[in-house]
Amino acid sequence: SNIVAIVGRPNVGKSTLFNRLLERREAIVDSTAGVTRDRHYGKSDWNGVEFTVIDTGGYEVNTEDVFQEEISKQVQLAIDEATSIIFMLNVEEGLTDTDYEIYEKLRRSNKPVYITVNKVDSAKEELAATEFYQLGIEEYFTLSSATGSGTGELLDKIVKDFPTTDYKDPFEGLPKITIAGRPNVGKSTLTNALLDVERNIVTDVAGTTRDSIQTLYNKFGHEFVLVDTAGMRRKSKVNEDLEFYSVMRSIRSIEYSDVVIIMVDATLGWESQDMNIFGLAQKNRKGIVILVNKWDLVEKETNTTRDFEAAIRHKIGQFSDIPILFVSALTKQRILKAVEMAMQVYEDRKKKIKTSKLNEVMRPVFEATPPPAIKGKYIKIKYCVQLPTPSPQFVFFCNLPQYVKEPYKRFTENQLRKHFGFTGVPIEVYFRQK
Ligand code: GDP
Repeated sequence: SNIVAIVGRPNVGKSTLFNRLLERREAIVDSTAGVTRDRHYGKSDWNGVEFTVIDTGGYEVNTEDVFQEEISKQVQLAIDEATSIIFMLNVEEGLTDTDYEIYEKLRRSNKPVYITVNKVDSAKEELAATEFYQLGIEEYFTLSSATGSGTGELLDKIVKDFPTTDYKDPFEGLPKITIAGRPNVGKSTLTNALLDVERNIVTDVAGTTRDSIQTLYNKFGHEFVLVDTAGMRRKSKVNEDLEFYSVMRSIRSIEYSDVVIIMVDATLGWESQDMNIFGLAQKNRKGIVILVNKWDLVEKETNTTRDFEAAIRHKIGQFSDIPILFVSALTKQRILKAVEMAMQVYEDRKKKIKTSKLNEVMRPVFEATPPPAIKGKYIKIKYCVQLPTPSPQFVFFCNLPQYVKEPYKRFTENQLRKHFGFTGVPIEVYFRQK
């Protein structure tokens, strides 16, 4: 079986990731069994592919003199035992000499190494993480210790690279959509509505784990994968009542998706659980479409739709161009529109703007409305690029990035949305010194 080892200096966050990988499984499989296990060694899985995880830091001794030797042992253990190696770094401490040494050893081992930068909880840290390119690497992954986001992308890659399984995402390159929402909001009804109208479903792939199903739809001329959860269809199962399980499943589905359709119950309004799902999708930088379902039950007056929409927009704040549609899964009203909107968001999320075009459009914007001068200092934005990331991120090079404040960042984001169209897609904007 495949073994994934986590290596890195003490306190970079190895155990946190380790525990997270185990929890994923145990929360579903073993939570009531009271199993005892070795704390530094355990089984996990991703999309039905099982693997063993080793936390090489499990036996760390944090005194100065054994420090180097201890790390050497860990690295050697990983090289000897593992199929894949996660090399954890920590954005707070940045690159150290030890990191260079560890990486040099790992590189020479010819095992696949996944550079993973931990504690990237904000845009500021995302930018700081670019420092790790100095290792001479092509790519790295970032994890947020606060939210756990980023794990999905990392595991996708690791599992895909496993040599001893012929695992291949059967739906690679296709839009992946999750329908999320509180119990009884209408998720199953919508899923079935999409199934019923035409009978041209191609594949229903159940993972070997019991908690996820992906279905390929070819509908209204669009091909997409609904990342579903078995539990949504098997309602009678006892576990279904547990909020905990449904949250676990949502997280997993959201991590795997490109676009999250958040369903809201029109008869109940936007509540804190909806906000949680929204926050999760946003933190994972997934595309978002909001469907206000059961609209058939609402008595409409002149401004009902407008007021309802305004109330939601007020709650979700500045992320202004998220599509909000009023639908009925039961009567299939505006279901086609919902699918089209999700596809639009998917396309916008993966859109890459050419550097020449970006600069051509943004330069006049910055000339007409430069950032406000601070203490008599003028901020000049010289040029910008879009990063090659799965969701849109932009870097603006300027002389005094520290003087560019939040309102101007929001202005820049809105200008990008206005000129290039990123409907329902979280955008990151960084200002940086050339
Ligand atoms: P889930 O728990 O999110 O999968 O919700 P279900 O799809 O099981 O729906 C819960 C209940 O709401 C069922 O009785 C549905 O028939 C009903 N329902 C779902 N969508 C609509 C809708 O658009 N209009 C109305 N009137 N009822 C709906």
